[in-house]
Amino acid sequence: MVVANIVVVGSYVVDLMCRTPHMPKPGETVLGGPFKMGPGGKGGNQAVAAARLGSNVTMVTKVGIDVFGDEAVRNFEKEGINSTYVTRHGEESTGAALIAVDQDSENMIVVALGACGKITQEDVSDAISSFDEANIVLIQLETSIEAVEKSVHLVMELNKPIILNPAPYQEFDEELLKGVTYITPNETEATLLTGVDVKDENSAREAAIILKKKGVKTVIITLGKQGCFVYDGNDKGRLISGFNVDAVDTTGAGDAFNGAFATYIARGFSLDDAARQANAVAALSVTKVGTAPAMPYESDLSSFLKKSNS
Ligand code: AMP
Repeated sequence: MVVANIVVVGSYVVDLMCRTPHMPKPGETVLGGPFKMGPGGKGGNQAVAAARLGSNVTMVTKVGIDVFGDEAVRNFEKEGINSTYVTRHGEESTGAALIAVDQDSENMIVVALGACGKITQEDVSDAISSFDEANIVLIQLETSIEAVEKSVHLVMELNKPIILNPAPYQEFDEELLKGVTYITPNETEATLLTGVDVKDENSAREAAIILKKKGVKTVIITLGKQGCFVYDGNDKGRLISGFNVDAVDTTGAGDAFNGAFATYIARGFSLDDAARQANAVAALSVTKVGTAPAMPYESDLSSFLKKSNS
């Protein structure tokens, strides 16, 4: 089997999650619980998703000199992720997401990117040898735009494929899209990038055509439980249907999708087959609570696909 070598440039934040009987009003203190702490951040989640599917993953991120930073490195190592390029910021603390979830499973989240919002061009350049060994580089927008830009330029020079998951959406120089091999927005991000109200196959096609005109080689728009729309400009593109599962927590579905898509594209799967595998991995992730801890292993995926084919 071909093993995928993937570099992820992106965020790590610690998720601090607390259940609450109701959302506190300004000035109110609510007695809630239970409390759960776990690894999070789009970059870290996507790295875990890819590693659990058997990829060799190198993480490029930044954490603080604090207990959460130590925990981040320990967690990457536990998942078999290379943490050589996880650097420490002297002043900023490790990123954190404060998550309150009420009895109806509605949530309120405040994210402080902290150190991972300060990844510099030099941090990215220092990781050049890992880029050189990679089959594919995976980046998101949950970090400094200078790190995103530097990554795209480096990867272009090395003539390697790059996946840009434009999440969460923030403005960037669209010239960059000319260097992007695969872009993977969800409905909201595709809408913000194109002005098309993306909600189904037809609107996704309209948005994909616009993104392709902006210079991206291949467009994959994720559409929640509908699956995803793929378009490489060779034909009209198509919907790759999602899998029917009992969803309990859809946070992190996009991260599962991206880590899996990177894995199977790097292993040489066709666009449609990689998108189908990614739909399956993301579907499995929504059947469990949490983000990184909910990512399935390759053995879970094989049994799931066997069951859904029979
Ligand atoms: P989203 O970010 O909501 O577009 O979700 C990313 C991917 O996760 C989708 O392309 C689907 O493959 C998968 N997904 C999300 N929600 C569900 C769901 N309720 N059931 C099955 N798969 C889902």
